[in-house]
Amino acid sequence: MSEKYNEIPMAGNIIEPGNSKKYLTGGWRAQRPIHNPAECLWIKNGACGRCWIFCPDMAIRLVEKDGVRSYEFDYDYCKGCGICSNECPTSSITMEGE
Ligand code: SF4
Ligand code: SF4
Repeated sequence: MSEKYNEIPMAGNIIEPGNSKKYLTGGWRAQRPIHNPAECLWIKNGACGRCWIFCPDMAIRLVEKDGVRSYEFDYDYCKGCGICSNECPTSSITMEGE
């Protein structure tokens, strides 16, 4: 984002759909989430997804391909808020300093 204060739309109105993709909120991060798959309910049986639901930046990818489940963070957008770690019922996400 390079606009000056007087160049953005009045009242911060969003006039272009999908524009949040441009804002790489990962640059705000002081801590990064680390996933431990051993106890993750998504990896074990395809359940849960609580971290994915609560992440405010949609920075978690729960992928299933050819019957194999994987889990990853999109660190371009993960701002390190720790909500995913806080919401995980199995403590499968820990926060570490950058
Ligand atoms: S730390 Fe915050 S932004 Fe990053 S993946 Fe977890 S909930 Fe999303
Ligand atoms: S909240 Fe925890 S157990 Fe549930 S999918 Fe996320 S990492 Fe796995």
